[in-house]
This record gives sequence, structure tokens and C-alpha cells, in this order.
Amino acid sequence: SDQDPKYKRVLLKISGEALMGPQGFGLHPPTVERIAQEVKSVHDLGVEICMVIGGGNIFRGLAGSAQGMERTTADYMGMLATVMNALAMQSALEGIGVFTRVISAITMNEVAEPYIRRRAVRHLEKKRVCIFAAGTGNPYFTTDTAATLRANEMACEAIFMGKNGVDGVYDKDPKKHADAKRYDYVTYDEALMKNLKVMDASAIALARDNHKPIIVFPLDEPGGFKGILAGQGTYTTVH
Ligand code: UDP
Repeated sequence: SDQDPKYKRVLLKISGEALMGPQGFGLHPPTVERIAQEVKSVHDLGVEICMVIGGGNIFRGLAGSAQGMERTTADYMGMLATVMNALAMQSALEGIGVFTRVISAITMNEVAEPYIRRRAVRHLEKKRVCIFAAGTGNPYFTTDTAATLRANEMACEAIFMGKNGVDGVYDKDPKKHADAKRYDYVTYDEALMKNLKVMDASAIALARDNHKPIIVFPLDEPGGFKGILAGQGTYTTVH
């Protein structure tokens, strides 16, 4: 029917910074709870949901290495930061009755499940939200590449990039240029060539090679995530 959601299984990627709310650092519980409500509203439609959350609100590998830290060590610290964010999201989702699993690319059995692809698929089939933590488990990667990787492995139909303060992809920074134009659609190659703000380049290339549409949308717009599943709202599809 017309009410059927556009997608049956999606991956939602949010940056760590999306969780810090008005603060300059760390976790802001009311903001985490608000995002959890957005996720629940889509889950209530029967959509199977994967999540990947960044760690930039706590630690970024590049920032650590710029201060003289060994790069791979700094990247592991960044990956651990994503685990904290995943646990915060798990707590918020379960607090409103959505069952979840945190699945970590770095084994830490006391804290999260290890990543086993077939097991994660089973969780999705049982309508548990799978929160993939610790990125890809590899230094020199990002949570954007982790999002594309997991979306491929879990056979998600689309990757939803939830942004703050912007309702899609523009040809130039809309905060600096009054004449910036938003794309409804843009190709992977154009996004790469023009260095548009979608995801990092390796993540876009990985999505392109596996034909995963990337939907860039405003997560701070109440009801925005759910609206897209019903074919409404403003957003950009990278395809
Ligand atoms: N990271 C990594 N490998 C991965 C994913 C993440 O090394 O597969 C590290 C990297 O240091 C990164 C940090 O974790 O800076 C936090 O992730 P990211 O910067 O992607 O978070 P976001 O910008 O989305 O908040």
C-alpha cells in the first residue's frame, strides 16, 4: 500500500558530534534520547535498522596523531570512543522499548557481542536494532567506511546519513554562500569529483561499487527520518 515504507532494511550513520548536542564535547543525554525517538519511529514501521555511530565527540585518531601520538594507537582510541557512543544509544533505545544489540568489530565480550555476520542478520530479522561499534576494527579507516561496509554485508537497501543543520548535499557550503544549491540527486562520481560533503571518499567509492544509495538528510528535523521512509521531506540521494 501507499503506507508501506520505501525500504525494508536501512543503515543509519550518525557522527559522534550529533550526540554532543549544545555542548562542545561528549554525550548529551537529551540529544541521544531525541535521536533514539527518531529511530523508534522508523522501527515502529517495521523497518529493520542498522546503526553506525562515529566517535568524533570523544576522540579522533587524526587529532591524536597531530599531537604526536602514534597513529594506529590513536585510531584504536577513536574506535573505543564509538563503543561508548553505541552503548549510550543502546541504553536510550532500550529505555523506550526498542530491543538492540551492540556489535563490536573489536572483541570485548563483556561489553558487546563480537561481529558475526550471520548472527547480526538474524538479529535484524528479529527486529532488533543492530548498533555496529568500533568502526571496521582497522586503523586508517573511518566510521563512514564502516557504515558502507556493514550496509553491504547486511544487504541494507540504503545508507542514511543523518546530518545536523543541513537538509542534504549542496554545491557549496550553504552556511557561507546564500546562492548554494541543494541537489535532489547527485551521482557518486560527481560527489567524489567535486568533493561534496557526503562521506569520505573511500566510503563513497565503496557505496558506488555496490550500488548502495546514500541518503543525506537532516536528523535534527523532528520526524525527518520517518518522513523519508514515507517519501516525504527534503534530502539528497547520492546514486
Ligand atoms: N576509526 C578507525 N577505524 C574505523 C573507524 C574509526 O580507526 O574503522 C577511528 C578513527 O581514528 C576516527 C575515530 O575512530 O577518527 C572516530 O571515528 P570517526 O572520525 O569516523 O567519527 P565521526 O567523525 O563520524 O564522529
